[in-house]
Amino acid sequence: MIRRTACRFLIGALLHLAVVCASASVQKIGPDLYAYISENDSSANSTFLVSNNGILVVDTGLNAQEGQKLLNEIRKISAAPVRWIVNTHYHPDHRGGNSVVGPDAVIISTYETRAAVLRSRNDPDVKNKRKAPPEYQLNETFTGSRGLTLFVGEHEVRIYYPGPAHTRGDAIVYFPYEYVVATGDLFLTNSCPAMDDGDMENWIVALDQILALPLDHVVPGHFELATKSELQRFRNYLGDLRDQVARMHHKGIPLDQVQKQLDLHAYKDFRQYPQYEATFKDNAATYYGQLEHPKPQSNMR
Ligand SMILES: [Zn+2]
Repeated sequence: MIRRTACRFLIGALLHLAVVCASASVQKIGPDLYAYISENDSSANSTFLVSNNGILVVDTGLNAQEGQKLLNEIRKISAAPVRWIVNTHYHPDHRGGNSVVGPDAVIISTYETRAAVLRSRNDPDVKNKRKAPPEYQLNETFTGSRGLTLFVGEHEVRIYYPGPAHTRGDAIVYFPYEYVVATGDLFLTNSCPAMDDGDMENWIVALDQILALPLDHVVPGHFELATKSELQRFRNYLGDLRDQVARMHHKGIPLDQVQKQLDLHAYKDFRQYPQYEATFKDNAATYYGQLEHPKPQSNMR
């Protein structure tokens, strides 16, 4: 959820706050597939697939404490080893529990996510594997939209890169036998998203690609387990925002006026978080900036 500029604030705040939480919700969404909906909005949701060959986990929460909570729930269901972790993107609230949830797991991400993790740790030489932090030495990365297909027990898991969206290197995880998708922060249920260094227009394309899939359940990056209709509504929000901002930008209207003239009344129930730069106005500003300073598309597709 968080953008880089908010990470330090968030981590600092968490260190100073004693967060009293209700227990997380684990919902069975397939024969061996579960959604872990975090009760802590600052820590991402997870999805886990259980098999006799091992367990696959998508995203591990903000830190060791959140990772332990997730692992405790996994252990109520299976004692099998966690063999694979997918990190949907580099933000700490999606990977901070890696070393607790799966200390021996292969950690799968896009190439760009791994590079972003290393950059975020002030390692200027991302090619120097000796400097790579232990949790990332086992990383298995992929590039291109074809992604990676894993067979875990009786199940198929398709992991792919839709191009820049929430960040430059998001991964989507689709379970084709169960009609389930784990979206990372490409989708938050009934909420404005935070927008990092991604691409708003391609983000909408990516959501349309997901919406074309058979789907019974959608595991968002944060908040409640959802269905296709909530995902569609979130996509419509981004589409309306894009259309309004692009139209006004084309007319030369300055950003502060664009933000005042936005009409997003249809989404007035969406959560907005100024502290994470996740509001209508923040989203408009991010896209306005992308229109002002277009970036070349990733060359990894
Ligand atoms: Zn995020």
